[in-house]
Amino acid sequence: MENDYYKILNVSKNATKDEIKKAFRKLAMQYHPDRNPDKSREAEEHFKEINAAYAILSDDEKRSIYDRYGVEGLKAQPGFNFEDIFNFSFFEDIFSGFAGQHQRKGGDINVNIELTLDEIFSGVEKEIEIKRQIPCAHCNGTGAETADDIKTCPTCHGRGKVQTKQFFFTLSQTCPSCHGTGKIITKKCHVCRGSGYEVKKEKLKINIEPGVENGTVLQMQNKGHVISNEYLPGDLYIIINIKEDPVFKRNGMNIFLELPISVVDAIIGGKVELPYFEKQILNIKIPKNTQNEDLLKLRGYGLLRNGYHGDLIVIFKIFTPQKINKTQEKLLKSFHKLTKDKYPIIKNFFSHLKKRFKKIRNYSLRTLI
Ligand SMILES: [Zn+2]
Ligand SMILES: [Zn+2]
Repeated sequence: MENDYYKILNVSKNATKDEIKKAFRKLAMQYHPDRNPDKSREAEEHFKEINAAYAILSDDEKRSIYDRYGVEGLKAQPGFNFEDIFNFSFFEDIFSGFAGQHQRKGGDINVNIELTLDEIFSGVEKEIEIKRQIPCAHCNGTGAETADDIKTCPTCHGRGKVQTKQFFFTLSQTCPSCHGTGKIITKKCHVCRGSGYEVKKEKLKINIEPGVENGTVLQMQNKGHVISNEYLPGDLYIIINIKEDPVFKRNGMNIFLELPISVVDAIIGGKVELPYFEKQILNIKIPKNTQNEDLLKLRGYGLLRNGYHGDLIVIFKIFTPQKINKTQEKLLKSFHKLTKDKYPIIKNFFSHLKKRFKKIRNYSLRTLI
């Protein structure tokens, strides 16, 4: 256990009362055992130190004794008890606002739901099934077969805490036998096998707004696990996963479509009927002279959210015919003869190449495979 209280609170030796309070508040929030379920033991120890440091430095008299004589000086004070300092209730006093969150609550439930882009486009009502823990009806959540099977914990005599001597003061810790409840169960409930809860399946309808983003988490208060009537149930968190669509890609409120078209349609123009969302068929016009990856923006055809419409963006991908026969090849050759002068970009490119050829006199010819 660290004894430099200034260091624990991360304040200077001449910190004001206000600075000390602020530092404590920040650290206490960070290390509160309720907020550190994974490493609660470690957090609890550190939390105790923070508590002790604040108890001493926030009290003018104690602080001045500590400054002059250190911890030993405090210990020498009549009626001074370190145990009081490690009392958690101290924390509750200073955080009236945070105290509510400190209350025991049922556990939360997380549910993943998978939605298609079609469902996201128009919004959807989904039914989900959750498995809620509710207090066992047989034992009323106690986990004991009968009320007589609940006994006072012999280790802590019902106090829920045990004291261990550490160095020159006594530490109060949660009782390892009863985990702080002060009670032990001699015969477990045969229905829940001592867990105190049963699992109830529940169906819920969830309304998904159109345009919702992937990874959105919806919170439904009090739809989590139930401990008892005394405490609030936990919450239900619904995590939205959007399935990838093989055709349409979503980016924000916009929908992207890579539309494969033939080289002929690209040259002379064409039409494509596109089965779209919400049972619409879109007639996409391929303009004459379309180049590869040209974009066509259809304003307002994207997703709708909060009155804002995204766009549908069509990206034309040009494909050449595959495995043509001799006749087709012949036709293409004569076509090519007729259209040789119709490629301004290619023409421009080769005129640059010609200039480079002229500059090179003695060259070595390399054949690249
Ligand atoms: Zn039970
Ligand atoms: Zn106990």
